[in-house]
Amino acid sequence: MDEKNKPEKDSISVGESTNIGANNFYSLPLRDVVIFPSMTTTILVGRPKSVAAVEEARKINAPIFTVTQTNPDFDGFDEKNIYKIGVLCNIIEYSKMSDGTLKLILQGIGRARFLKVVDNPRAFVSLVEILKDQAFSNQNNKELLGLIKSCVENFTKLADFNKRINADVLSFLVKAQSPFDISNIIATYLNSPIDLRQSVLEEENLTKKLYKTLELIKTDLEIYETEAKINKTIQDKVTKTQKDFYLHEQLKQIKKELGQDEENEVEILRKKINKLKLPKEVLEKCNNELSKLDKMNPYASESSVIRNYLDWIIELPWHKQTLPNNDFKKAHQILDKSHFGLDKVKERILEFIAVQMKSKNSKGPILCFVGAPGVGKTSFAKSIADALNRKYVKVSLGGVRDESEIRGHRRTYIGSMPGRMIQSMRKAKVVNPLMLLDEIDKMSYDLRGDPSSALLEVLDPEQNSSFSDHYLEIDYDLSKVMFVATANNVASIPVPLRDRMEIIKLTGYTEDEKMHIAKEHLLMKQMEENGLKKNELIIDDAAFLAIIRNYTFEAGVRNLNRELNKLARKAAKEIVTKKIKKLHITNTNISEYLGVEKFKFGIAKESNMVGVATGLAYTEYGGDLLDIETLKFEGSGKIQITGKLGDVMKESALASVSYIRSISKELRIDPKKFNKYDFHIHVPEGATPKDGPSAGVALCVSLASIITNKPIKKDIAMTGEITLSGQVLEIGGLKEKLLAAMRGGIKTVLIPKSNQKDLKDIPKEVLKNLRIKPISKIKEAIDECLVK
Ligand code: ADP
Repeated sequence: MDEKNKPEKDSISVGESTNIGANNFYSLPLRDVVIFPSMTTTILVGRPKSVAAVEEARKINAPIFTVTQTNPDFDGFDEKNIYKIGVLCNIIEYSKMSDGTLKLILQGIGRARFLKVVDNPRAFVSLVEILKDQAFSNQNNKELLGLIKSCVENFTKLADFNKRINADVLSFLVKAQSPFDISNIIATYLNSPIDLRQSVLEEENLTKKLYKTLELIKTDLEIYETEAKINKTIQDKVTKTQKDFYLHEQLKQIKKELGQDEENEVEILRKKINKLKLPKEVLEKCNNELSKLDKMNPYASESSVIRNYLDWIIELPWHKQTLPNNDFKKAHQILDKSHFGLDKVKERILEFIAVQMKSKNSKGPILCFVGAPGVGKTSFAKSIADALNRKYVKVSLGGVRDESEIRGHRRTYIGSMPGRMIQSMRKAKVVNPLMLLDEIDKMSYDLRGDPSSALLEVLDPEQNSSFSDHYLEIDYDLSKVMFVATANNVASIPVPLRDRMEIIKLTGYTEDEKMHIAKEHLLMKQMEENGLKKNELIIDDAAFLAIIRNYTFEAGVRNLNRELNKLARKAAKEIVTKKIKKLHITNTNISEYLGVEKFKFGIAKESNMVGVATGLAYTEYGGDLLDIETLKFEGSGKIQITGKLGDVMKESALASVSYIRSISKELRIDPKKFNKYDFHIHVPEGATPKDGPSAGVALCVSLASIITNKPIKKDIAMTGEITLSGQVLEIGGLKEKLLAAMRGGIKTVLIPKSNQKDLKDIPKEVLKNLRIKPISKIKEAIDECLVK
């Protein structure tokens, strides 16, 4: 502290010294400022007792004690409302304003502790103890040196943000005599709350004081930096819009200079829209949107929403269509060339063309192809489009569960778009495409609405001329579209939708058909795709059959296609790496390329066996032989059924037991025999799903054989549901079952008489190779199967 500024006891005329080192001083309570030693501060003084204190101190040329109030609203001066440490100050400048308020510039001299208020009727006076700063040495005190450095550096950074910290302040800081002064200078310029600044003032320990100061600088810095970051983000946004605007204006100007007068965007859109020959309401809607757009700031987000909307209208087809193909022969050729078999579907398409030729306004049929994966549903729909000279667009409905996916979102949503129907129409670019509604059975619904109800409108010829999409907000005519749907399972298609469509079932292919498809279609496609020339991959018939039988198990040809792709890839690799001319696949080398066989199919027994009947199973992958075995052993008439059978099949087994018991006389067995044995019925082959009633006949035959001890002929297979009265009822999947029987080397198949009607759909080669015997009673089956 400056010696000459040290307050002298004698220079104070108020009160009396009561302590050594303690003196009475005129005092100034401060409301919202903390004054630090060595620093000058400007303040206004208004309270009469404060004004008087200043006047009196000036008279005797004595320092004045300034101390900050803990409660800024308090007007008096008492120890409850002030901090305990203040600063003695010299009054450097004094001026009186017209209202009596004083404006002072004070210079801090040193700290002092408030001890008590001294009674004085005119001015604030207090008894204080003058404090001395701690002695220090910063030599070798690394912590202290580090702290000082850090404080100065960070404070300098603050200067970038805080305009009050100017070059003068910084040079004052550099010249500071002591670390206390450094802290004092810094604390004066911080924005920290009063209590924190006061705590810096009060701190006696130098190191702690500097730590506190540093902490406050850091807080200030952090606040400034965050503020700057926020400002920058906002500024960037504003600048971008401004920049766009200027650039656009400049561009306009340049174009003007070049004589290319810029056409108003709205006018361009209007011209495009007028060319479309839109229906009246649509045109009105567009004109409305155009006039809104015209009035808007081109950079407002709302205007881009309108532009987007008008783009959709412009891109959608309104009148353009492809000419229908009325050439019967050509259509036939296209269908035949692309797909083998599928005669029923081809027939239906040719009928459609015929009707189209006769009547111009016929509403197209809505066909729904139902069948297992890979039977050619989608690819055939594409061929139909080619045959009819229509554009082809596909809408995948698998997993769609929200109505707005079909109908779109209202324009109020950000990023909203029309639904899939309108999106597909935009892709098609014509009003009469063939639209494939793929996997119509895989739609589901949730709280956001049922997509099938929207599809109902699409598929209803009475309604689809005015399909409403939420985004477009205007009706769109879908009546010229030909819809074709696909599904794996009829039962999963919502009933109202099913009623609107003509279901065409594509059953699986026979081995023979698969051979044709593989040889005449798939192989060529795969060779082409894998860059192979003709004859670079040759596959024997036996190898084809092996792929169909042992490497795939399916109704369609998807996996067959995949295996052929694998062979084509391998061929390409061998030709490139081993420099061979071609790859020849035979039944013997096939496993080298496709790995071990993946599937085994059921084949007929090698000999007649007692209790083992051959049933026929049907799955969505095709049919297979299914052994039904029964064993008897001494017991008391108990029945045991194993083989993981479904409930229906278990019931069917129990019904068979009852039925066979009921005809024991006709089988010429003592009915009591049933009580002497336990029976165990078993259906092996874990991989085949075993449920459904169609094994009834085979179960009865197996039981009849075991109880009579007569063997069952090895080459007979059978299928049929039974009743307790001994009737044989109709079954499903006849084609697949007969195919499996033929493949397995079965000679005779017993089928329910009521299935005879289905034989017309059975491929000729199957009918040629199998003796098919329709039966209506279980007894016929027993007679036919048991070796006499
Ligand atoms: P799906 O839609 O029924 O699942 P895809 O139409 O995708 O079946 O058919 C799978 C592959 O099999 C396609 O490459 C297709 O060309 C071919 N394919 C299916 N059936 C036939 C067929 N009858 N004749 C020729 N290729 C066929």
